[in-house]
Order: sequence, then structure tokens, then C-alpha cells
Amino acid sequence: MTQAYTTHIHEYDVVIVGAGGSGLRAALGMSAAGLKTACVTKVFPTRSHTVAAQGGISAALNNMKDGDDWRYHFYDTVKGSDWLGDQDAIEYMCRNAIEAVVELEHMGVPFSRTDEGKIYQRPFGGHTIDHGKSMARRACAAADRTGHAILHTLYQQSLAHNTQFFIEYFALDLIMEDGECRGIIAWCLDDGSLHIFRAHTVVLATGGYGRTFFSCTGAHTCTGDGNAMVLRAGLPLQDMEFIQIHPTGIYGAGCLISEGARGEGGYLTNSKGERFMEKYAPNTKDLASRDVVSRAIAVEVLEGRGCGPEKDYVHLHLEHLSPQVLHERLPGISETAKIFAGVEVTKEPIPVVPTVHYNMGGIPTNIHGEVVKNGQKETVSGLMALGEAACVSVHGANRLGTNSLLDLVVFGRAAALRAAETIKPGTPHKTISPDLYAHTLAQFDQLRYAHGDFPTGEIRVAMQKTMQKHCGVFRNDALLKEGLDELKKVQESMKNIRINDHSLIWNTDLLEAWELKNLMAQCWVTLESALQRHESRGGHARDDYPERDDKNWLHHTLSSLDGKNKVTFDKRPVSLTPLTKDVEPIPLQKRVY
Ligand SMILES: Cc1cc2nc3c(=O)[nH]c(=O)nc-3n(C[C@H](O)[C@H](O)[C@H](O)COP(=O)(O)OP(=O)(O)OC[C@H]3O[C@@H](n4cnc5c(N)ncnc54)[C@H](O)[C@@H]3O)c2cc1C
Repeated sequence: MTQAYTTHIHEYDVVIVGAGGSGLRAALGMSAAGLKTACVTKVFPTRSHTVAAQGGISAALNNMKDGDDWRYHFYDTVKGSDWLGDQDAIEYMCRNAIEAVVELEHMGVPFSRTDEGKIYQRPFGGHTIDHGKSMARRACAAADRTGHAILHTLYQQSLAHNTQFFIEYFALDLIMEDGECRGIIAWCLDDGSLHIFRAHTVVLATGGYGRTFFSCTGAHTCTGDGNAMVLRAGLPLQDMEFIQIHPTGIYGAGCLISEGARGEGGYLTNSKGERFMEKYAPNTKDLASRDVVSRAIAVEVLEGRGCGPEKDYVHLHLEHLSPQVLHERLPGISETAKIFAGVEVTKEPIPVVPTVHYNMGGIPTNIHGEVVKNGQKETVSGLMALGEAACVSVHGANRLGTNSLLDLVVFGRAAALRAAETIKPGTPHKTISPDLYAHTLAQFDQLRYAHGDFPTGEIRVAMQKTMQKHCGVFRNDALLKEGLDELKKVQESMKNIRINDHSLIWNTDLLEAWELKNLMAQCWVTLESALQRHESRGGHARDDYPERDDKNWLHHTLSSLDGKNKVTFDKRPVSLTPLTKDVEPIPLQKRVY
């Protein structure tokens, strides 16, 4: 059964899809610049995943008087990225970090304070002074609820600047014509109506795609919808093989225990009670970067030194910290440990395992947030991407903790500045012919009335388990190829999906099916990208190619997907030159910890 869908038309200078930290920072800047700005979001803005960020946001403020400098932040970020981060973009982020965090403070973010009343800063993995000589205290924190504090403030500021919110509207697809983005088509979950948003620029700020995996710290809404829209528009995604696996997700539940816990003095042990990180990273130990700690835990477990009856996790100790520190600096994770692991952190260690946490890859952009199409400089007219959905690339092969919240606000602001420069408010819109979104509506309708054998949840678990098993901490040729075979079977079962609810009002059954379709597209490009990269770098560790290979692989992967799930590749060069002469390029080195 099909039916003709009527659509409501809206016209804005800019439409932002996503109300996480990146979407809101762009929204308030664009609104403040006099652009008529809409923000479309599938969840209430303050429920976006940014709310869950715990440990902090980095900026070399030097409030703790350890001699910190943005150039050290720049060095750590390049090194953390395993040299796959673009040094021009990294310079832009690290030098603008200071202003960005002070701006957040002035907007009203309730940061924790030092005795002098300055923003409190804590140590974090991979943050160092003077190129690794000592640990830096660079992570600006609001206890262990930094994302919550930032997101609420940004939402208030967006409202103050008259951003128009379309809350619980689900964006289905981009509307593209002649290679330009003209707007989006969205579904209002509340009343079931369909909407066309015309815009001079669409900003995708749709977050990561952690839910391709079974165990992940991201919200259930982290389905990478924007990435999938870009693939469907025939544009490539970048560096999808680089997925950050956080060392300390709660065993079983997957909830995050922030690195801030180790920043405050927490440490890991194996079943023999050994502080094993001393062996893997003699300098930075428990605060080595995340890929290093995750691999160390995986090796401990593989070699039989895991804890518990199945020997499949390790312990994170906080019980030696004073109850006052736990109460003031880590109240959120103390509560999470109690609820999800039944652990009283003042008395006993928390069982933890490496858990999927962050997507370094995403929609390729320049430092103004504009999407680039050909791996070089040419941009896609009318399309920007920000935050975890984007790949600028400041995180390269591995993101340093606290650099994501920073990425959101620095590049959210940069995109707003660019939009203010390039869009004249009130410029008339080109018309959008219904032919441009007829295909999306046909697919929507087909899915709505799908009456196969498998409910969405069943297919999703099969997909997530495939990714978990075949694309985790360690990868190799055989494992990845088996993963692709498994994924083919899952893809086949998509043809036989069943939707029980055919209405349009709050139809979570249909919504989740569309999200699953989006996730599946990203599984293809992720697995294929991991298979083709014959080296180990950052979050991508191959047993069969254990070394980093700069001769053959010092480039970004661009992956595109056709209608038959065939992936094709292209390359984008890594920028090894900073933006200005204020900082020296960091030459290629082997990472030592
Ligand atoms: C548990 C946890 C802790 C973290 N802690 C830290 C930390 O301490 N420091 C740090 O730097 N980073 C941290 N990170 C990473 C960081 O929080 C995220 O990368 C970042 O918040 C992502 O922000 P975003 O703006 O890209 O998107 P999100 O905050 O994920 O928001 C995505 C938005 O897009 C909207 N959206 C998505 N799809 C659609 C659609 N189809 N239609 C309409 N709207 C849509 C959603 O409604 C939402 O508003 C943490 C991440 C997790 C999961």
C-alpha cells in the first residue's frame, strides 16, 4: 500500500541538523549573525549525546601553573593522532581553544574552580608539558559532568539568540541538485507530518555512529544519520576505519567510566593485582592514550590475566582516593559504578573492558566546516558538517580525551563565522522540485509497510555482534573478510524486515528501522576501509600488519558506497604543515610512551 505524502515547506538561511554541542554552537553563532536559523533535532536538545560527556574540555589555560602552552597541546594532538591528523586544522583548534573555553565561561558554563577561582583543570591521557616531559593539567572540567554543563548553556544561548528549534523532527535525507545541497526532508515524530526545509546551507551535526557496535558508550541515538545521508548523496566519508575503543567501559553495561578517573589518580590492575600499564607505557602508564591502554587490556585478557570467572575484564581502582575527591570531582561515575556494576567505588574496584567510544572518521570538511568533495579543496556548495559527524581531521587515527568537546565549539564557531561571511540573510531560495525527494519518500513508504519476518531489533543485534567480533581492538585480513561475509547475510535479512506499526505518529518502530538502514551503510564502509588499510595506526590495529607504514599509508581514506553496497576508495593527503609559522611542524616519529 502506498499513499501520497503531503509536505510542509519551510525557508531558512541555514538549517542545522543536530542540537548537540556542535550544532548548538553553530546555531547560536549563525542566529547572532542575523541569519534565519533552524535547528532540527530528533531528540530534545539537552538529551543529545554531548550531555553525557564527563571528563572535560581541553585548553592550555595554564590555570594550574604547570607551564602549559597551546603549542604543547598541538604537539600532543598530532602525536595522539598517530600523525594522521591534519596539522593545519590541529593548529587552528589548539590555538583557538583558549578563547573558546573562556567564551563558554562567559556564556555561563558552571566549571569547577581552583582555590583562586579559576577554571579547574585535571590531567588526561596523552596531555603533556614540553613534548612528553611531564603530565599536563589541561582538561577544564565541571566535576565529571562537563558535557551536561556545556550543552545546557549552549541551548540557553541559542534560545536567547532566537534559533528556531524543530524538536523531535527526524531528518531523512539531504535534498541535492546539480551537486549542491538545497535543503533536507524531515519527519515530525509528534504529529507524523513531513517537512521540506529549504536552506542556503545545511549543517550536519548529527554525531557519531557508535551503535554499529554491540558494546558502546554512546547513546542509542548515535546512529550516524548524517553520515548515511552523505553516502546516499554519492559523497565520500573519510577515515571510517578509525574507531576509538575506550579502555574503561563498565563490564557488561558498556557505560563509560571517564579517563578523568585515572586523571584523578585511578589505576588498572589484572587478575594478579599487577599494575600492568607500567609495562606497556613506562612514561605515561595509566594515562597513555586510549588506543594504547585498550590494546594493553586486550592483551592482558588474551594472555589469561583477565579478572572474574571468565577472565575477561580488568579492575579500575579508585578506592585509595579520598572520599572528598570522589565526591567533588567524580560524583557522576561513582553513581554510574553503583547503578551499573553494583560497585561502591570507595571500597572496591570497578570491572572494566574496552568499549567503542568515538568515531574519528566522518564527513570530510575544511577548517570552516565546509564539506569537501574530491579529497582536495573543492567544497560541496550548501553543505557543512561539524562535531563527531565530521572529519576535519583533528583527531587523525586516534582522538585525545577532551579534544572532542573542543572540536565541537571551535569548529561550530568557525562554521558560524563562515556562514555569516558567505550567506546574505533573506536571499531568495531556488525552488525544489518534488522529484528531488520522491525517491526518499518511496523508500520511506516501502519501509513503513514492510511485512517480512524479522523485527528491526533482531537484525540490529546481528549487525552489532558482527562489528563487535570482526572490527574490534585487533583486526586482521581473515577476521575482516569473515565480517564482510556476515554483514552480507545481515544485509540480506534487511529485505525481510518487519514493521509492526504503520502509523506516522511516534512510530519508533519505523524510526529505528530507518536508523538501522543508516547504520548498515556505515558498517560497509567501516569494514571495507579497515580491510584495505594494510598497517597499524592509532585506533586501527592489524595483527597481520603490526607496524605503521608512512611510506604507503600516510593518507586519509575516502570511501563511497553505491546502491549495491559496493565500496570504492580514494585518498586525501594528510596536511603535515601547520596553518602559520607560529608553530613548527611535528615531523613523523614513532610513538613512544
Ligand atoms: C559517555 C561519553 C563521554 C564523553 N566524554 C567526553 C569528554 O569528557 N570530553 C570530550 O571532549 N568528549 C567526550 N565524549 C565525546 C563527545 O561527547 C562527543 O563526541 C560529542 O559530544 C558529539 O557531539 P555532536 O555535537 O557531534 O553530536 P551529539 O551530541 O551526539 O548530538 C547529535 C545531535 O544530532 C541529532 N540528530 C542525529 N540524527 C538526526 C536526524 N536524523 N534528524 C534530526 N536530528 C538528528 C540528535 O538529535 C542530536 O541533537 C564523550 C562521549 C561519550 C559517549
